[in-house]
Amino acid sequence: MFSGGCRACRAVSNELLLAMPWNCDYLIVGAGFAGCVFAERMASQDGKRCIIVDRRNHIGGNSHDEFNSVGVLVHKYGPHYFRTNSTRIWEYLSQFTDWHHVHYRILAWTGGRFWQFPINLNTIEQMLGRESSEEEMRGLLAQWRANIKSPANSEEAIVSQIGYPLFEQFYKNYTRKQWGCAARDLAPSVCRRIPIRLNRNNGYFDDTYQALPKQGYHRMFKRMVTHPNIRVILGVDYRELLAHACCGHLIYTGPIDEYFGYCYGRLPYRSLRFEHETLECDFYQPAVQVNYPNEHDFTRIVEIKHATGQAIPWTTIVREFPQAHTSANEPFYPVPNEANNALYEKYAHLARSEKRVSFIGRLATYRYYNMDQVVGMALTEWEKARSCCRGESAPAVISVSKGVQFA
Ligand code: FAD
Ligand code: UDP
Repeated sequence: MFSGGCRACRAVSNELLLAMPWNCDYLIVGAGFAGCVFAERMASQDGKRCIIVDRRNHIGGNSHDEFNSVGVLVHKYGPHYFRTNSTRIWEYLSQFTDWHHVHYRILAWTGGRFWQFPINLNTIEQMLGRESSEEEMRGLLAQWRANIKSPANSEEAIVSQIGYPLFEQFYKNYTRKQWGCAARDLAPSVCRRIPIRLNRNNGYFDDTYQALPKQGYHRMFKRMVTHPNIRVILGVDYRELLAHACCGHLIYTGPIDEYFGYCYGRLPYRSLRFEHETLECDFYQPAVQVNYPNEHDFTRIVEIKHATGQAIPWTTIVREFPQAHTSANEPFYPVPNEANNALYEKYAHLARSEKRVSFIGRLATYRYYNMDQVVGMALTEWEKARSCCRGESAPAVISVSKGVQFA
């Protein structure tokens, strides 16, 4: 029986106590990709009864989207560009949505002009102010790059490929703003997310499949959880349910340090403030995303309409201002570096000894994962759970009130 989450139980309201009981096999904390994919598989393939609880008032976790007052479909928690190389993950999600295929094009604005980003041959031509070639670019990078054999951090990961001047132009200050620390204090994998190319491929990603759910993420999630074996409870912290629950298995997708009452201290997360502006025009900027590495407080402006393909006389732009994570905002990004990974390992050790609890998803595993990686993780967890629990039945009784909102 799981116990960790009970440590920080909050008193449940009287309204909740006046509740009808719900039997379930799995109590799933978090209605993001991790929780919804796991529930969908368990419910539809194995006939298990699942309750998904989320303290936010919508399904979809950070990938939630919604239509604003003028009808523009906006990504509430920053742009969520779906992409994957996995045919299995693509086919799995395709059961719940049609797709709008997108070529994600991103630019950088610095020194008073737009630049091709990620850096490629077109960027080098912009710098030189003349035509160039792959061969010349290769030669220039060989001159500029720092001689570092095994990059130990994000600064070294970039300067060992393209040298200091380009690092300073495109990465140094963006990274400091985004993470509140220098690139040299972050794992190499953070800045390595961005490809550096010798050709003219202007796309932000290299993945085989790049598309957005045609009618939005919310519709896709709704289809996933619309099943007689799945109940979704929104606007409730799972600890409020636990006080009145006796549950067989918990799937936890929230922050792992919070689950364990921060007993080893807080894991650092980075948060964001979003500033929305709606304009009566077709488009505000030339690409779905413009990065502002240097002269501005925000890191990027996203105009998601470029990617959703909506035909509407309005547009909405969103400026992203990175900020420290506090109790008043969302823990959006785990901060990957050696010290934080070591602290996470201490929590992971505790997690491994929790009985009947699985920790999956970006926050519960403290990984800077994309959506497809989280879908993959949830599918793997489902396969693991069904093979080890075959034949077992451990129903839970959970009380919820009429006042609680159901998706
Ligand atoms: P989440 O979506 O965070 O869901 C976890 C849920 O658990 C949350 O809704 C939370 O409210 C709930 N929860 C936590 N604790 C409790 C509790 N105590 N009780 C009840 N509920 C609780 N990925 C891409 O592939 N492409 C992108 O372009 C992309 N862009 C991104 C942009 C931003 C700004 C951010 C922050 C992330 C981006 N991602 C992107 C990553 C993507 O958001 C994640 O990979 C994915 O959403 C993780 O899903 P999840 O289910 O693990 O977590
Ligand atoms: N980055 C940068 N300059 C940019 C874009 C990205 O320095 O113009 C660095 C920065 O550290 C960022 C990381 O690369 O956090 C990963 O970028 P990505 O666009 O993948 O960030 P995400 O969309 O996950 O916020």
